[in-house]
Amino acid sequence: MELERREGRPICDCGHGEMVKDGKNPRKIVTLLGKINFERTRYRCKYCGRECYCLDKVIGLEPDRKYTLGVIERLCGQRWR
Ligand SMILES: [Zn+2]
Repeated sequence: MELERREGRPICDCGHGEMVKDGKNPRKIVTLLGKINFERTRYRCKYCGRECYCLDKVIGLEPDRKYTLGVIERLCGQRWR
């Protein structure tokens, strides 16, 4: 059963083990289909204090990025044409 509970939790890069849930954090991003508001669970490492958003990693969003890759590609494409 221990394995089931651990599933889905991120492991911290510091190597001290899994991170624990530390609340939720709303985020807005702009996609090719429009603006999206969503909430993701914040995880924090008990040892080094690093925070991580699992969902961001899953969808490939970097922490400070407001646009998805598709939007960035489109903006760049227009600029260069
Ligand atoms: Zn850590």
